[in-house]
Amino acid sequence: MTQLGGKHILLIIGGGIAAYKALELVRLIRKAGGSVDAILTRAGAEFITPMSVTALTGGAVRTELFDLGREAEMGHIEASRAADLVVVAPATADLMAKLAGGLANDLASTTLLAANKPVLMAPAMNVAMWHHPATVRNLGTLIADGVSFVGPGEGEMACGEFGLGRLAEPQEIFDAISHALVPTPKPLAGARALVTSGPTHEPIDPVRYFANRSSGKQGHAIAAALAAAGAETYLVSGPVALPDPPGVSVTHVQTARDMLAAVAAARPVDVAVFAAAVADWRTPDEAEQKIKKSRKGRKTKAPPPDITLVENPDILGTVSALAEGRPGLVIGFAAETENIVEHARAKRKRKGCDWILANDVSPETGTMGGDRTKVHLITEADIEDWPEGTKTEIAARLVARIAAALGGES
Ligand code: C5P
Repeated sequence: MTQLGGKHILLIIGGGIAAYKALELVRLIRKAGGSVDAILTRAGAEFITPMSVTALTGGAVRTELFDLGREAEMGHIEASRAADLVVVAPATADLMAKLAGGLANDLASTTLLAANKPVLMAPAMNVAMWHHPATVRNLGTLIADGVSFVGPGEGEMACGEFGLGRLAEPQEIFDAISHALVPTPKPLAGARALVTSGPTHEPIDPVRYFANRSSGKQGHAIAAALAAAGAETYLVSGPVALPDPPGVSVTHVQTARDMLAAVAAARPVDVAVFAAAVADWRTPDEAEQKIKKSRKGRKTKAPPPDITLVENPDILGTVSALAEGRPGLVIGFAAETENIVEHARAKRKRKGCDWILANDVSPETGTMGGDRTKVHLITEADIEDWPEGTKTEIAARLVARIAAALGGES
């Protein structure tokens, strides 16, 4: 097996009863052709010896103990320079907290702060420590900073308690390392993709608007998956509480009209996915000033305003009907609460798009704003019932179908 041939890993072994599993991890990495340098923290050295680590790595092992020779060579900086990936296993609550807080007061934390390579952490700690708000906060910070995680798993712990906090198995950590180091296939390299996501806000006056419950989770997941598959991806997003997906060019808009303009500006594209829940109507009489409850100059209350509604532009319909510059594949969504497939088939024809992803958004499904969904893919020839999954899983499946339809190689 030479899956990791030529790859070099800097392994930081923290303290914990699971530190011995790091030795098995070293064995797996070396068997796959990778090489390992290790740092054994002071706490780690309470559980395994520097000698056992060197014997397995066949390379250097640095310990927290002050090493004048190595530090004269700026060991904490140079350590990550030679590596392709820095792996922390076991990552203790303390090591996570140090990196999240930017602390650098020992060799492991100084090396992590000075690292210029991706970092993968495999946490291991007591279940209460894992669920402590401080650890939860640190985990969020580290994820936002781009650190990847594998585990922890659930099970009986050395301390006798049960729950999340067990170090992931060496094979799982190895798989995460391979995933991080071996380039994933880019079946959509060279393709251009456009996605709309989120709700639109249609103003009534400077402080009020019409909106809907769309969270943007599905559209954002699709944009992220398209970018991960190598497509040059443009996302036009209504107001959402989500971060911009990595590697995606994002235009933030408020109204359906702005969304249409941004979609027009992003073309031509090979595939367009319209996942936004665009407001069907807006008021043409948007007030310039806040509408008051009482009449001007009088004490009496004004009657509630008469709000006239007009239709918004149909973005999906407009793009599907383009005679020139129509994307090769136009995909719409149908959010239905009854007769899902039947309504979605009719919608596909009416809108003129190629595919429709139909989902049930009845309140009891929790789809709107939730993390899971169940969809049906409706094409001209077929209806596919996809198994229920997370919005990320649905996005990955859709992108695989898109890649196949565009004739990409995987
Ligand atoms: O007709 P309905 O609004 O249910 O259609 C949903 C599909 O149409 C979604 O793909 C949505 O993004 C798109 N749509 C649009 N512009 C609108 C309304 C819906 O692009 N004004």
